[in-house]
Amino acid sequence: MRDIGIVGAGQAGLLLAFALRSEGYPVTLYSDRTPEQIFNARIQATTYLFGRACQYERELGLNFWEGQGDHSQGGDLDICGAPGTRALRVYGRVRVPGMAVDLRVKYPRWLGELERRGGTVVYHSMDSQGLEALASRHELVVVTTGRNSFPGLFERDAERSPHTRPARNLAAMVIRGMRTWNDTPFPALKFVLAPGHGEYFSMPYHDRIRGPETCILVEAIPGQGLDRFGDARDAAEMFARMRGVVHDFSPWLESRLEGASIVDESSWLVGGFTPMVRKPVGRLASGKVVLGLGDAVILNDPIAGQGLNCASKAAHALFEAIREWGDRPFTEGWMQETSERFWQREGKYITAFTNLLLSPASPHMQGFLGAASEVRSLGDLFFDNFGEPQRFWPWIDSAEQTQALIAEAARAEVKQGAGGA
Ligand SMILES: Cc1cc2nc3c(=O)[nH]c(=O)nc-3n(C[C@H](O)[C@H](O)[C@H](O)COP(=O)(O)OP(=O)(O)OC[C@H]3O[C@@H](n4cnc5c(N)ncnc54)[C@H](O)[C@@H]3O)c2cc1C
Repeated sequence: MRDIGIVGAGQAGLLLAFALRSEGYPVTLYSDRTPEQIFNARIQATTYLFGRACQYERELGLNFWEGQGDHSQGGDLDICGAPGTRALRVYGRVRVPGMAVDLRVKYPRWLGELERRGGTVVYHSMDSQGLEALASRHELVVVTTGRNSFPGLFERDAERSPHTRPARNLAAMVIRGMRTWNDTPFPALKFVLAPGHGEYFSMPYHDRIRGPETCILVEAIPGQGLDRFGDARDAAEMFARMRGVVHDFSPWLESRLEGASIVDESSWLVGGFTPMVRKPVGRLASGKVVLGLGDAVILNDPIAGQGLNCASKAAHALFEAIREWGDRPFTEGWMQETSERFWQREGKYITAFTNLLLSPASPHMQGFLGAASEVRSLGDLFFDNFGEPQRFWPWIDSAEQTQALIAEAARAEVKQGAGGA
């Protein structure tokens, strides 16, 4: 059995570690934070997982929070006209429900579980020298340390990275006592899109202490109307500003925040980062190579909720590639090929879809959303594809193909209506 070292205990690193352990591979996971430190940390994300990523966790027996609180079964989108007015509403149901679990409860539980399943966990912050030592010790070293560690180890891929600055300023908060924003007959993510200003979302969320609550993410276009959280000092101020946003942009949701508040001082965040795709193979000073995974190499803005999902999919793909590779050496060529296969099958669609949502909607996409507000199957398709962005292609790039898709869905709905009458 191959001996594999994984640096970083986030979604990418942990998922890969569990998948490898399920096949008996010796795995050592290096984490710079202990379970207690992770549990007590500030939130780092809003954590929504779509169907396939949830399924991977289910298959590995890691779905400890399933059945506690609401799983989301779809999406409910309001598009504002002028701020404060609703121009359009689209909703739809997904085939496989998703959920959002506080990473501060998920990763500590998983770290204990990994050791129980025979994995070795080493609590140590790795630096470049540490990576050199690991590259000598393990047959393969996978670096999954997220967006901030080891700057320069994985070179920016300019061709695949259109952004040179943050596209959105981010704010997130976990809320208690809030009435859900979705008006669907099933639990759903709520999206409010304010063209020219940005977007905000609410989702059912499993809080580390309180269990089922709600999480909100704001994606503010820098300098525009939603961009008012950057200098907030505490939870009360964050929440007051959120109420202000809802009052100004979607007053039909305002009363649902009555009596609500942020759960505690470590459950809100503000920030921003530049989305970036990096080359997947990092070369150490000695010439040895390590493989990057997750945000370390494919870093997208969270507007489409893809980061954790992409990390899970990439970990799953890497696990399969390791298994298929048998006893052969993990060469640089193998690393390049394995990563490129994932990019071509999934990564490029995840990234393109995210970047599409960061840009003003094209006329044919506006047409699609208009049609989806009336044709049920198009609303379902729109939200179901968030978990599988490759399914938006090729039609989403073409006005003609989008039009054909709309016409076909409308015909099918008329036929179904006539059949049902
Ligand atoms: C505001 C916000 C909202 C988001 N919402 C969503 C969402 O709803 N859905 C979604 O899919 N994605 C979302 N994301 C994106 C998601 O959080 C990331 O894509 C995801 O966490 C990436 O996982 P990862 O395992 O690659 O990295 P990380 O989660 O960053 O994990 C890296 C780990 O490595 C450890 N580490 C770092 N340096 C070292 C070192 N030197 N030595 C050892 N360990 C180290 C860190 O402590 C950490 O535990 C959101 C992001 C943000 C900022």
